[in-house]
Amino acid sequence: MRVHLDAIKDTGLHLAYEFNPARDEGLADVEQSGEAVFLGPVAVSLDLDRVADTVEVHGHLSAHLRLTCARCLAEFEQDAVADFFCVFTPQPEERRQPTPGDLELSADDVGLLFFEGQVLETDEAVREEVLALVPYRALCRPDCRGLCSRCGANLNTDLCTCPAAPGDPRFTVLSTFKKR
Ligand SMILES: [Zn+2]
Ligand SMILES: [Zn+2]
Repeated sequence: MRVHLDAIKDTGLHLAYEFNPARDEGLADVEQSGEAVFLGPVAVSLDLDRVADTVEVHGHLSAHLRLTCARCLAEFEQDAVADFFCVFTPQPEERRQPTPGDLELSADDVGLLFFEGQVLETDEAVREEVLALVPYRALCRPDCRGLCSRCGANLNTDLCTCPAAPGDPRFTVLSTFKKR
């Protein structure tokens, strides 16, 4: 979303809108990889404040995701929320054509974003935070027992009669117990 500086009054500016990952080129990869599917748009809420010549942004996101459990491969749905903070600062003259990787990287590190002229574009910041909503290793529940490596049974729901094998959590507990 493009925001003109004049729209941010002394009391700040509150924006609430929907960000649709399915229609965003930067997020198409996540959807196609099957890691996560955004069920519906992401609700975005932003509070913008002018501080000196910069704009501080407090953001809140909430989304509903369909994920695949990394252990048992079951699909499940989960709400994801995130709060974030970033600062937009005017594009310095000398950085109009930044050298690749150089100055951009250091700005990225501290959550600094640039804007040119009187207009800032919030999509880039929002897109990164939306990406961060997708867990690196999604679990259907914290204590998911996964699949049996021998018979493939879902150990959360199915009975498995395989003997405990090396590497099996039950076996590991037993072997550490014996060492004591
Ligand atoms: Zn699971
Ligand atoms: Zn089994």
